[in-house]
Amino acid sequence: MLKVKVAICGQAIALDGFFGKFIRALNEITVYKNIRLRHPDTGRALCGYCDPSKEEIFLCPAPKGMVAESTAKVLVHELCHYVFPKLPEEGVIFLEEFLWCGLNEEQKRILRGYVPKEYSRAQPS
Ligand SMILES: [Zn+2]
Repeated sequence: MLKVKVAICGQAIALDGFFGKFIRALNEITVYKNIRLRHPDTGRALCGYCDPSKEEIFLCPAPKGMVAESTAKVLVHELCHYVFPKLPEEGVIFLEEFLWCGLNEEQKRILRGYVPKEYSRAQPS
């Protein structure tokens, strides 16, 4: 029983640590919301894109042909790319799922607040 408690406690501390990193990152970068989002090299439709060198994150709530997903969850994915630029895609997907399951409703609400209300014409280059 004690072991379980320690594990849950450790996870909560780790999640708070990630959340703090994300909020610091969000205060450094620009987040755009786009009606259409395409990969600058491949032209593939995307629901999110991060350019760590330009400190930009693009979010596209429901690109054509893709299942609409929570934009805040996509933001978590792109923030993982920004905070850990060398982490491969599989690691980012794992971290996104782990964090999204563990973040509390208040933290998710705060993250949703960083999703711009207005759409932008800016595109990744
Ligand atoms: Zn990714």
